[in-house]
Amino acid sequence: ALPDAAADAQVRADDRAHVFHSWSAQKQIDPLPVAGGDGATFWDYSGKRYLDFSSQLVNLNLGHQHPDLVAAIQNQAGRLATIQPAMASDVRGELARRIAGVAPGDLERVFFTNGGADANEFAVRMARRVTGRRTVLAAYRSYHGGSGTPIALTGDPRRWANEPGDPSVKHFFGPYLYRSAFSATTETEETRRALEHLENVIVLEGASTIAAIVLETIVGTNGVLVPPPGYLPGVRALCDKYGIVYIADEVMVGFGRTGHWFAVDGFDVTPDLITFAKGVNSGYVPLGGVIISERIASFFDDVVFPGGLTYSGHPLACAAGIATFEVFERDGILERVRDLGSRVVEPTVRGWLERHPSLGEVRGSGLFWALELVRDRDTREPLVPFNATGADAAPMGEVAAACKVAGLWPFMHFNRMHIAPPLVISEEDLVRGLAIIDDALTVADRYAR
Ligand code: PLP
Repeated sequence: ALPDAAADAQVRADDRAHVFHSWSAQKQIDPLPVAGGDGATFWDYSGKRYLDFSSQLVNLNLGHQHPDLVAAIQNQAGRLATIQPAMASDVRGELARRIAGVAPGDLERVFFTNGGADANEFAVRMARRVTGRRTVLAAYRSYHGGSGTPIALTGDPRRWANEPGDPSVKHFFGPYLYRSAFSATTETEETRRALEHLENVIVLEGASTIAAIVLETIVGTNGVLVPPPGYLPGVRALCDKYGIVYIADEVMVGFGRTGHWFAVDGFDVTPDLITFAKGVNSGYVPLGGVIISERIASFFDDVVFPGGLTYSGHPLACAAGIATFEVFERDGILERVRDLGSRVVEPTVRGWLERHPSLGEVRGSGLFWALELVRDRDTREPLVPFNATGADAAPMGEVAAACKVAGLWPFMHFNRMHIAPPLVISEEDLVRGLAIIDDALTVADRYAR
């Protein structure tokens, strides 16, 4: 990567003049011009390299420019670059078969979308059509996508500016022992009380009106909240009891992030619908979808499914998805994630608790961890307030800046830093990146009492 100041200036100028960016006040951002990437690293036009500890938006599971994925897309582009969804395609069919092969239970059919938001959109539509009910329950501290129904499902501040969205969506509290909504002090208490709360919400909202519960298996952006044992089976049981469709949003955690094909595999539950995107092909070409249980899929055997997309199961995206399966199987990616997670990441970040007073809690699974930063370990006061912006958010900005200076691109959200590198990161780079974060935490420590 050679420095190229002219290219840097041109990319910046075009971007600032003409590209309208997501979730931003356009004048308050300064997007980094990226010149290239390879594996767990990308670089800018000055030649500065960054370890990508956020896997872009936690989608780049197989890293930048994986040769197998690039070749699969190139090969497919040479064979048949596009085909409309009402026709059958070899790569679409093969990818659906492979996904069904690793999905739990009788989830055997796949509806392909362009990403995660529309996967949730169509999953909810299926649930509403099958149950004949309209209300949908989703958790506070969740993200389900930026468009119509998914932003209404979302339980974080990104929903607020989109209110009033969908009045048939209601929110509930999921388990989060560190900041328990139920004053619980043990996982057992948290599980029991969270399930009692959910059942109360179901009963009081009217069980007969509720089509679906939408739940991230491990809450992603809102905190890497790993559900305590028994919670997800409890949700499954409530859905069965009240005839509610259980939709597991695995957009961020599916396809290996936690060392399983799907995070539900680690909790021994089978949802009715699983939504996926991101890791299915590392986002090389936009792709998402809904994996559908036989009960729901067969409902539409003789009833028209009211939905569709021009690019559903796009061949370039599906070819990259098939290559993803080949790489996962050949290179033992799931085993690697479990090994690196439990042998390298977990002991390292748990060890930091002894040295960094700003570290309130660490939690996670596989190559997906959260560091919860606090000003005071006893009161658990967050290092920055919920949804902080500007000066209030400065301490987290300083931690992020320390990481970037040292050559690591972090994933930051509110008072948390998440650790989510590509699943192909070398052990050496993983250790090096963790050491950079270790150093950057001393910046947060200065704010801690
Ligand atoms: N669901 C979850 C859990 C996500 O993390 C995301 C994206 O971050 C989405 C849905 C939305 O996916 P997309 O941005 O592909 O629409």
